[in-house]
Amino acid sequence: MFVNSNSVNEIVTYYQEKLSELYPSNEIKNITEMMFEHFMGWDKMTLRSNSKSSLSESELLLFHQALKRLSKNEPVQHITGKVEFYSLPFKVNKHALIPRPETEELVDLVIKECIGSETILDIGTGTGCIPISLKKQLKNTIVYGVDVSADALAIATDNAALNSTEVTFVKEDVLQMSSIENSIKKEFDVIISNPPYITNSEKRLMNENVLTFEPHIALFIDDDDPLLFYDKIGHLAYDNLSSGGKLYFEINEHYGNQTMKLLKSIGFSDIRILKDLQNKDRIVSAIR
Ligand code: GLN
Repeated sequence: MFVNSNSVNEIVTYYQEKLSELYPSNEIKNITEMMFEHFMGWDKMTLRSNSKSSLSESELLLFHQALKRLSKNEPVQHITGKVEFYSLPFKVNKHALIPRPETEELVDLVIKECIGSETILDIGTGTGCIPISLKKQLKNTIVYGVDVSADALAIATDNAALNSTEVTFVKEDVLQMSSIENSIKKEFDVIISNPPYITNSEKRLMNENVLTFEPHIALFIDDDDPLLFYDKIGHLAYDNLSSGGKLYFEINEHYGNQTMKLLKSIGFSDIRILKDLQNKDRIVSAIR
């Protein structure tokens, strides 16, 4: 076996040692805690109080296999198969982007500003984290999510069930759509999107675990046309939002002003750029 004894303490130390080149020590601590929660059902307190106890050989094997995957840069969320987003559980896998904290900020804003909306559409829904967490709070709103990937929609559908929410998911390639109304038959009060926005030249700044294990279709865009999705969705939204309807985008921090100009040229008003908790331009909103 990979440690001298089967004691919990030693596994914790071994994880620290083996992952030290990939992650800072506080993150390894978090990852280790997530592994004990996942395999043993132990919370942090239980882990601490069990530090001197021993695991069985088969339990040890689970930690060993997980460490192998972690050492190859696989995100811990792919090993546990889940993540918490807006205090709700979401299933994740390689077919959709792991929900990010900055997107929680987008959800929070929309909940505050869109109470009473009849219909909301999320474009490029991935795990469904945006429409599901909105539906959980805005119970009387009819919520839709669109994605080009059938595999992503399968996870989104599972996640809606997991959270006992009713969201209608539709498979569509937004870049090929001429009108939202044709395919979903609805005028919307709110349209939201967190489309791919990392330019190919920014790839070199990304962590290996994102590059190797997360779907590039959800992340990357050509440097030649960084606002491709914003342009397309902006026009669709202008045609399919009710008068006074709201558009919300998560954006690449370097393209706030350009996105703003684009939406202005389409005809939107009250355009704002909002910063995330790290003080980076992260959300653009506008009114039809
Ligand atoms: N915020 C994500 C990241 O930095 C990217 C999300 C996106 O491309 N829409 O990994």
